[in-house]
Amino acid sequence: MELNDSYGRKINYLRLAVTDRCNLRCQYCMPAEGVPKLSHSDILSYEELFLVAQAAVSMGIEKIRVTGGEPLVRKGVVEFLARLSTLTGLKHLVLTTNGLLLEEMAEDLSRAGVQRLNVSLDSLQPATFKQITRNGELAQVLAGIAAAERAGMPVKVNMVVMRGINDAEILDFVRLTLDKPYSVRFIEYMPTIKEENWQSLVITGEEILGRIEKEFEFKGLDQVELAGPAKNYKIEGAQGSFGLITPLSGHFCGACNRIRMTSSGKVKSCLFSDQEYDLKPFLRSKDVIAVKVALRRIIVTKPEKHQISCSEAEHQAFAMSSIGG
Ligand code: SAM
Ligand code: SF4
Repeated sequence: MELNDSYGRKINYLRLAVTDRCNLRCQYCMPAEGVPKLSHSDILSYEELFLVAQAAVSMGIEKIRVTGGEPLVRKGVVEFLARLSTLTGLKHLVLTTNGLLLEEMAEDLSRAGVQRLNVSLDSLQPATFKQITRNGELAQVLAGIAAAERAGMPVKVNMVVMRGINDAEILDFVRLTLDKPYSVRFIEYMPTIKEENWQSLVITGEEILGRIEKEFEFKGLDQVELAGPAKNYKIEGAQGSFGLITPLSGHFCGACNRIRMTSSGKVKSCLFSDQEYDLKPFLRSKDVIAVKVALRRIIVTKPEKHQISCSEAEHQAFAMSSIGG
């Protein structure tokens, strides 16, 4: 079965946040004091999350990314992932994590059927990493990535590039791909929490690529189906590759194939749309048909494109930890 929106885009990717809690406080994701936590009763049970995943896959979703908050802090997440991996029709089960708990969990995640990991890592310098994450330990994340490699899970390393904070490390992240089989992706900073003067933090994909071009020769790689919006490149002879994700300067709305659900059951068809649908009432009454009807309505009303750019953002501020990125 194929799910299409009213602009003819095939929707086959669901991002599922399993918690709003996090063991970090990244500057670009949430304010220093954190964000108000959802109450236990607001968060969907694994049973309810599974029901949505099952309904979505039966309607044509082929890829699920489990995210958060930090998904690995929710108890029982490995068992939940193992259950998701049994869904007939689900081709890709992947996870996004900050990597802090990965060292101890990588083997179990792989056994549970997680095929690939995205690890968010914005600096290779312990002090800068601490500053961005408001106290995270870089060594713990690096040990987590090494454990994921040993467990046989391919790793994408996602770096949010911010002018004056970590942009001096762009070339170091490219160098990582020479010896490691990672796919490093440079992500344009997005004004989700709308910090003052957020525009000064933005470095466009074009500028990032320009800086890399001065130092390295590389070739473009073909787009892989369901691999997401990154444009990817490889230095000849390198083990890994690098890519650019440009939500601000180069909207990929025309090729957007995704919907998102928060851990409290709010579904969004566009990260920057203020429109969301609450599935919780249907989930609490186990009304699978109503869940499917709502999912279809959400997809049909998916906006054509968002309105943010490198200089303007016309959405309500939100913490990415509540939506899952
Ligand atoms: N805690 C996990 C992590 O950090 O990977 C998963 C959730 S996090 C909200 C998902 C992704 O959103 C991370 O890669 C993070 O870097 C990205 N993100 C959060 N706020 C962002 C922002 N303002 N601009 C760009 N990316 C952002
Ligand atoms: Fe937590 Fe991920 Fe947000 Fe950082 S980006 S605060 S790790 S949810």
